[in-house]
Amino acid sequence: MSRAGLRFSSAVLAFAVFMIDVLTPLEGAVAVLYVVAILLAARTNRRSDIIVAATGCVVLTITAYLLSHYLEAITSPALRALVSLAAIGITTLLVLQNQAATTRLAAQARLLNLSHDMIFVRDRSGVITFWNKTAEQTYGWAADEALGQLADKLLRTNYPGRREAIEAGLLDTGRWEGRVEQRTKAGAVLTVDARWALQHDHLGTPVGVLETHTDVTDRVAAHSALVQSEQRYRRMFDASRIGVVEEDWSGLRTALDSLRTEGVDLGDHLARNPDFVAHARGLARIIDVNPAMQAMAGASSSTAFIENVDKLLGENDRSFLDALVAFAEGQRFHEGETQLVRIDGAKVPVLFTITFPPGSDGDQSVLVFVVDITERKQAQDALLAAQAELAHAARVATLGELSASIAHEVNQPLAAIVTSGEAGLRWLRRDVPDLKEVATTIGHVVAQGRRASEIVTRIRTFLKKASPQQDLLQIGEVIEEATALVARELAKDDVVLIVEARHGLPPVRGDRIQLQQVLVNLLVNAGQAMSGQSGSRTITLRAGIVDSEALAITVQDNGPGIHPDDLPRLFDPFFTTKEGGMGMGLAICRTTVEAHGGRLSVASPTGSGATFQLTLPYSQVHYSP
Ligand code: ADP
Repeated sequence: MSRAGLRFSSAVLAFAVFMIDVLTPLEGAVAVLYVVAILLAARTNRRSDIIVAATGCVVLTITAYLLSHYLEAITSPALRALVSLAAIGITTLLVLQNQAATTRLAAQARLLNLSHDMIFVRDRSGVITFWNKTAEQTYGWAADEALGQLADKLLRTNYPGRREAIEAGLLDTGRWEGRVEQRTKAGAVLTVDARWALQHDHLGTPVGVLETHTDVTDRVAAHSALVQSEQRYRRMFDASRIGVVEEDWSGLRTALDSLRTEGVDLGDHLARNPDFVAHARGLARIIDVNPAMQAMAGASSSTAFIENVDKLLGENDRSFLDALVAFAEGQRFHEGETQLVRIDGAKVPVLFTITFPPGSDGDQSVLVFVVDITERKQAQDALLAAQAELAHAARVATLGELSASIAHEVNQPLAAIVTSGEAGLRWLRRDVPDLKEVATTIGHVVAQGRRASEIVTRIRTFLKKASPQQDLLQIGEVIEEATALVARELAKDDVVLIVEARHGLPPVRGDRIQLQQVLVNLLVNAGQAMSGQSGSRTITLRAGIVDSEALAITVQDNGPGIHPDDLPRLFDPFFTTKEGGMGMGLAICRTTVEAHGGRLSVASPTGSGATFQLTLPYSQVHYSP
């Protein structure tokens, strides 16, 4: 019923009692019924309504009495009216008290509704009698739905222990706290921290339990994620093959800060104060080491580990100073190489990276990652040894090349000396020795001997990497000398040499003997190539200008030519197809030509023998075409 309805009913009832009181001979006894009107008004829960109703009833009672017994002597009806008035008064007082208590309770209930925690009250049998707003919002049931339900059944509570034991503890101590799982109306599982408080009546009998639930689902999830991540990192830490050391550098920070306040340039100061650095090594405390690091340092467990890095580093270590400077400069990473001193005193070469986490808290967990590079060092040493061996082998090979070149180059003049000597002997053994011819042949012998010695000198200079002589040479003369040197040999093999050199070719800068040797080599090779063949054996030597910078000399034969497979290797040292060949001639020729700024190439079109072409830059200054 609404408030207005209650007020109206209360007034109607009071008036009805008044009428009965006045019109019937009940003589005031009916006035007790006014109490009902007051109780009706009290149900509006308003103090003013109760007071108005009470006052009204008192006035009506007195009015009725006066109307019926106007100034008559105070008799029993008067006493009855007084009793009625007393009843009205007492009722009013009680009702007012009750109203005040209800108002207080309502205020408390409103406070409970303001709470961020879920709060509900259940009676001793577990039936919910109060259900706050947050419980409505979080668990999903409105108060109307929750009231009267069994709390455990509604929320499908999952307790951490036996329910009976928890209840017994609650009765014993009056309180219980624990973490339980609750299911919401939508079916979600919430983890809550529950606090229970036993409620008693005024006689001390337990009447119900006030439960407060704090939702910690997110916190628990975050915590377990954190735990998982911790475990993951721990696994990485333990399983890593890289040594990891966790160190506390906060002591170092303090020491460095004290230096800083004295206004010292830290890097400089540290470099000049080995004592400070040595002291600082003792301040870098080791907190934890992983198994890989223990193995590297030869420790059987992390407890066997020295408590600071001092003993881990050798006396001559420079890496700690660098790391300290990096730390002082606020760098995040530092890398270095050093030798780790194992517990047994042996040294292990290592590479390391230090990470300095940001913030002063980070100083307490400086991580050092260490890699053992013993194998790498060994490989490096082996590589260095191999390189040294190779260099030695190269020197031996150069020596071989040197002797090979000397043998090769000197062979030709020696052969010429023998030929001339034999010719001389023949002239001498004649019945009438032709001394003039003998003198000529001896002249040849002497000339070839000189050449041989010059060749040796030149080769030695060449191999000493001394630059060749830079004479201004008339290329025509060089060609003439070279052809003269091989003329006899070629003639012996019936080789016809045709020289087609342009007159007035520009001079070239270079070494006469070396260039002569190149031509001699090419001519001798050509002759040898044709030696086995029947039919004509011709070598054509041409010399002419290619362009404004270079002149070219070609030596062409009509021999078998060069097999295409051999072409790419033709100029390699020791490449030969001849039985007693050495394979040095063309290699020396190419190097010589290139040392003169020119090029030596070969072409061998099928059926046209071989053509070697050498180009040489000529001296512009001394040439006017
Ligand atoms: P060698 O004469 O000691 O073999 P060379 O370096 O002078 O060394 O020559 C290398 C090879 O080049 C020879 O063995 C030969 O096979 C080839 N060669 C050089 N000149 C000619 C040529 N004119 N015709 C055919 N082959 C040649």
